[in-house]
Order: sequence, then C-alpha cells, then structure tokens
Amino acid sequence: MSIREIITPPDPVLRATAEKVRAFNSELRELADDMVDTMRSAYGVGLAAPQVGISKRLIVVEFAEPPEDPEAEPPEPELYRVVNPELVRTGPETALGNEGCLSLPGLMGEVERSTLAIVRGFTPEGEPAQIRAEGWLARIFLHEIDHLNGVLFIDRANEVWEIEEEEDEAEAASRV
Ligand code: ZN
Repeated sequence: MSIREIITPPDPVLRATAEKVRAFNSELRELADDMVDTMRSAYGVGLAAPQVGISKRLIVVEFAEPPEDPEAEPPEPELYRVVNPELVRTGPETALGNEGCLSLPGLMGEVERSTLAIVRGFTPEGEPAQIRAEGWLARIFLHEIDHLNGVLFIDRANEVWEIEEEEDEAEAASRV
C-alpha cells in the first residue's frame, strides 16, 4: 500500500465524469487500499478516485458519528470502499453543514444536503453492497459521489470562505 498524491484544480480529472469500473481485479483493490492510506494520512473522512488522478468510479469513506455525550468513548469509525456507487434515493430532509475538501485546501463552504442517502454499489471484491447513510455520513457519501461526476462542493455552496492553516487542522474531520 502506498500514499498517492491528491490533485488540486486546475487538474481536469477533478472536472471529468469518472468511468464506470468494469474489471474487479487486483489493480482495483490496490487502488482502493492506496486511497484508504491516502485518506488516513491526510486526516480526511472520504476520498474519491479522481482526487488521486484516477478517473474511475470508486470512493472510500471512513467515519464515525461522534457520541452525543462528550464523555462517552468515541465509536470505532466504519470503513466503506464502494465501486460504482449509485444513489438509490435521498431523504426529503436537508441540513446545512460546513464542508472542506482534500482537493481544495484552505477552503470551506456551507452546503445544503439531504440527511439521508441510500447508496448501492459493489465492494472492490465484486460483492454487491448497499449503505443507508444518515446525517454527516450521508453528506460524505453525497460529496464523494459528486466527485465522480466532476462536481466540487464550491459548486453547491451557499458561501465559500478561506481558512488559516491551523484552522484547517481543526477542521480536518470535515475534509472529504
Ligand atoms: Zn472532496
């Protein structure tokens, strides 16, 4: 496994529609493993293949909703690796949230998104997978699926602002 370089604008891969994965092979699994390493090393909670310059429909997400009681033990984050993710449906309710993106360092924005997303796809091993994502997890999945369609959060944000380096560290949990 290795850490790959995260690309930033104006790299055209970030604006391209990624190709559907057709071969579930060792190359795909290596890419998924590298993306997990890359996401973790950047303290992100999600990463899409176009962010490492590969125009394929593959995303990784690793997140745990923080417990309501701040004294409580934080849950183990769940890792998702989803190939050819499709939005089956999104819930009717939306929420505003502040997002950042590993491909847009130094920027944050307020984005309105559905609070429920049902996502269907495959594991890198080719097994069918369905995920019911709620709350912040739904936001992460919607952000990552946007990447596969060449859409960045700044396209959807009501407002975008610049953040300082130290603030960027504090906001790491919202970078996807
Ligand atoms: Zn992003």
